[in-house]
Amino acid sequence: MFSYRHAFHAGNHADVLKHTALIAVLRHLTQKDTALNVFDTHAGAGLYRLDGDYAQTSGEAADGYLRLIFKQNEALALANQTQAATKNTTSKSSLEALPAALQDYLDVVASFNKGQNHKVYPGSPFIIHSLLQGRDRDRLKLFELHPTDAKTLRANIAQLDAGRLITVHQEDSFEGLKKFLPPPSRRALVLCDPSYELKTDYARVLTMMTDAVTRFATGTYMVWYPIIPRPEAHELPRKLKTLAQRAGRAWLNATLTVKSSKLTTDDAGDVVRPGLPASGVFVINPPHTLKAQLTAALEATAKLLAQDKNKSFEVESGSGA
Ligand code: SAM
Repeated sequence: MFSYRHAFHAGNHADVLKHTALIAVLRHLTQKDTALNVFDTHAGAGLYRLDGDYAQTSGEAADGYLRLIFKQNEALALANQTQAATKNTTSKSSLEALPAALQDYLDVVASFNKGQNHKVYPGSPFIIHSLLQGRDRDRLKLFELHPTDAKTLRANIAQLDAGRLITVHQEDSFEGLKKFLPPPSRRALVLCDPSYELKTDYARVLTMMTDAVTRFATGTYMVWYPIIPRPEAHELPRKLKTLAQRAGRAWLNATLTVKSSKLTTDDAGDVVRPGLPASGVFVINPPHTLKAQLTAALEATAKLLAQDKNKSFEVESGSGA
C-alpha cells in the first residue's frame, strides 16, 4: 500500500496552485444552471488540520497557504499604521489588492477557518463542495484508494450531510472513472491529482485522460503534476498537450516554481534535497477566462511564495483549432 499521505503536504505551494486553478475553473462552470458532474479521481482525506502532527512535521503549509495569509495580514497591519499616522480614512482600500483568483482562493480556504486562526485546510473534495452549494442537481464523485484516507474521507463527508450530491468510491480511479463518462448532463469537470508515488502513475494518467477525452471530448479535465528531475514528470505535460491537439481541444498549462531544484549540502557536508520545487496544472477545455486569471494570480503567488531567486511562473495555452 502507498505511504503517501496528503496530510503532510496540505496547504503547500502545490496546493495553492492546484486549488487556485480549481476554484477559478469551478466559478466559471457554475455560472450555468445545467447540472454539473465533478469527478475528483484522487480525493485524499478531504479536510486537514494544519496544527496536527502530520502538517507540523513537514511544515509545508508555512511556505504555502499560511505564508500568503501572513503576508496579507502584514500588509493590512502596515496599511492600518499608515492610516493612523496620516489620519487617512481608507484602511483596507489602501492595500494593494491581490489578483481576483488568488483572493478568491484565500477567501474560500479562510471560510473553513471562522474563528480558528487558520488551523484547517480544505482538500479538493471540500473546496469543490463549497463551490457547488445550492446546486442540487450537481453530483460530486470522489475516488480514494487508500483505506485509511478513504475512511477519514467518508467520516469528513458524512458531516456535510450532503445527501445524494456526494458519493465516495474506494477504488482505483484510473479504472473507475470510465464507467461515468460521458455523464448524462454532458457537463463535467475531472480533477486528476495523483501522488505519483508509483512511477507508473504518469503513464496511467495519460491513458486515463486519453480514454476520457475519447469518451467525452467536451469535458473539462485538470491534471496536477510535479516538476521534478524525472523523465516521466517532464514528459507528462508534453504528452497531454499532444493529446489535446490531436483531439482538437483547447488546452492550458500553468506552472509555479518557488525554488531551485538543485541539491545542496548542509554545514555537516550532508546532501540536502530541496523538496518539491515546482508543479503544474494542465487543463483540457479550460474556461476562456482562465489564462488571464491564472497569469495575474501566479505572478503574485510566485513573488509571495519565492524561496530563492529561481521563482517563476508560466501560463501557456493553445486553441485546439
Ligand atoms: N486531491 C487532493 C487535494 O487536493 O486535497 C489530494 C490528493 S493526494 C495528492 C493523492 C491521493 O490519491 C492520495 O490520498 C492517495 O491515497 C490517492 N490514490 C493514489 N492512487 C490512487 C488510485 N489509483 N485511485 C484512487 N486514489 C488513489
